[in-house]
Amino acid sequence: MDFAITSDQLQILDTVDRLMQRHYPPEEIRRRDAAHQDCKDMLPVFAEAGLLALPFPEEYGGLNADRLTVVLVQERLAQHGAIAAIVYGQLADFGGTSLLKYGSEAQKRELLPRAIRGELSFSFALTEPGAGSDAGAAMTSATKTSSGWRINGRKIWISMAGTADYLLTMCRTTKGSKGKVGLSTFLIPRDTPGISMSRLDKVGNNCMSSWDIGFEDVEVAETALMGEEGKGMSNMLKTLQYSRTAQAALAIGIAQSALETAKAFAIERRQFNRRIADFQVIRHRLVDMQTRIDQARLMLYYSSWLVDAGRPFRKETAQTKVLASEALEFVSRHGMQIMASFGYSAESDMQRHWRDARLYTFGEGTNELQRDLIANEMGL
Ligand SMILES: Cc1cc2nc3c(=O)[nH]c(=O)nc-3n(C[C@H](O)[C@H](O)[C@H](O)COP(=O)(O)OP(=O)(O)OC[C@H]3O[C@@H](n4cnc5c(N)ncnc54)[C@H](O)[C@@H]3O)c2cc1C
Repeated sequence: MDFAITSDQLQILDTVDRLMQRHYPPEEIRRRDAAHQDCKDMLPVFAEAGLLALPFPEEYGGLNADRLTVVLVQERLAQHGAIAAIVYGQLADFGGTSLLKYGSEAQKRELLPRAIRGELSFSFALTEPGAGSDAGAAMTSATKTSSGWRINGRKIWISMAGTADYLLTMCRTTKGSKGKVGLSTFLIPRDTPGISMSRLDKVGNNCMSSWDIGFEDVEVAETALMGEEGKGMSNMLKTLQYSRTAQAALAIGIAQSALETAKAFAIERRQFNRRIADFQVIRHRLVDMQTRIDQARLMLYYSSWLVDAGRPFRKETAQTKVLASEALEFVSRHGMQIMASFGYSAESDMQRHWRDARLYTFGEGTNELQRDLIANEMGL
């Protein structure tokens, strides 16, 4: 098995490093986090460097890179600033990938080249007040009209919807249907009349704004339907199985950054006339943190390889998501302990990693649900 990163991939990672240092250095990431600033403005910068083109086929203006290259980029972006990888993944994974896999040829021709140029952004609207893990309980309805569809309902916790151009929204199209059948996805322009939005407060991921969205008699054209009618949920679940590698890359990048912060502190900080890195308990803790990250990283590269090789990856991407999110939770918790009062200071990067980290064991499908999926794949 070849574990080497190719020279092309190294070059792309070098581009990421230079781009982030130039446009979004650590002090800018800190400033944006403190200001709860939306970061859609990163998209044209990523586009300019060719990063947005990576996951897409050449016919739409893409570079047709493999999955491993894309997750390497996501991991490196997250190491510089989690929000950079989130903004990138929202397009490269959710919006763009869903469009590529399930959009009509007309939708792809119209939207993908613009997305690759950094001109468009998407939000993924699945969750409802009564439909979290049980996504099949979604009640938001789309009813056929003479000219298209009329949408009514409510979505909650939708990331970056306030600045998105399109909301990929899951709606029940078969009246009276229950569970995962009878649901369809719609590409809804955010400024369509009848859509109302309010921003939700939360403890971390400040730049990734979260939104409660109301749909009241929202009229969309027939062409807003994305993918086959009634197949929306199975398509969306397939997208999520695939995008778990992105979620894991993001968690691993943040974890590595948190570890570097704790390590630098442990080398610098002196107590009892010694570096605290000389106390065995601190050394071992740092070792356990790096080991958990490396374990998740290896699994990430393996599951990305499975995707690229066209082999089944359902079980492995779920395992990767569990490993990476729990590694991040472990690293940020112990990083805080190593840095003690310095980590708890609002000026420290560690408190941001710690707040951000808490999301990953339940966001995008809780780890309990991932373990159920893995158990099913194991034939239990
Ligand atoms: C910051 C943030 C951003 C988000 N972004 C988006 C977004 O962009 N788009 C979107 O659609 N959604 C988004 N979500 C929603 C997210 O996907 C859900 O929070 C997640 O799926 C869990 O749903 P829930 O919070 O309703 O928890 P619940 O489903 O109510 O779960 C509560 C607890 O019960 C457990 N549980 C539930 N069912 C089972 C079961 N069958 N077996 C065992 N345990 C179970 C869960 O594991 C969990 O521990 C976001 C959420 C947050 C917090």
